Amino acid sequence: EVFREFQVVADAADALAAGHRALAASKEQLELMAHTDVLTGLANRRRFIATAENELSRHDRYGYVTSLIMFDLDNFKQINDRYGHDGGDAVLRAIGTGLVGLVRRVDLLARIGGEEFAVLLPEQGQDVAMLSAQRLRAAVEAMAISTATHTAIRFTASFGVAEHLSGESLEAFMNRADMALYEAKSTGRNRVIVATSVAKDQ
Ligand code: GH3
Ligand code: MG
Ligand code: MG
Repeated sequence: EVFREFQVVADAADALAAGHRALAASKEQLELMAHTDVLTGLANRRRFIATAENELSRHDRYGYVTSLIMFDLDNFKQINDRYGHDGGDAVLRAIGTGLVGLVRRVDLLARIGGEEFAVLLPEQGQDVAMLSAQRLRAAVEAMAISTATHTAIRFTASFGVAEHLSGESLEAFMNRADMALYEAKSTGRNRVIVATSVAKDQ
């Protein structure tokens, strides 16, 4: 009788432990999902912002320099119009799989908007970031993807590069990279522009 009661308690403890493990696993899964972009598998905006904030505070404390690349697909509306939304999605997935191997392991490539991406380059100055952006730009230009309905879909992207200024907020830093990106768009697209090191509000 005592043994049977003991067995019931032991079984309940096992079930509880299994439940705990399942809960921990699904919590991990949820956290991963909350930080990952479903379409491309890249880091999402939330994870990018969190990592960048962390990196910038390291810069402010220890003097490490950090650079940022932001890029946006060129005339993406036309890609969607010509190849359908699925074609557009296939392009975005190709960006994720095609570029992730072209940045250093410590660099963070993220999809931060619909067809906008960013790369955080810890401990790299703007000259190295510029070369990295040029490499990414050339890789995008060289891509040709196929879907169930179309072949040889080609596309390009425009890039803005900025080097972090000590004490500069992430927002101001991203704004400078964005201004450079805007300049790349307005001067012909499919190019890399490095941001001026003077913040707008200084
Ligand atoms: P520009 O060269 O100036 O950037 O031109 P653009 O056409 O890319 O300009 P815009 O930023 O106005 O258009 C972006 C388009 O990207 C609009 C939107 O429908 C499309 N888009 C955003 N997110 C997604 C997505 O997840 N999948 C697809 N297929 N399209 C998307
Ligand atoms: Mg855009
Ligand atoms: Mg665009």
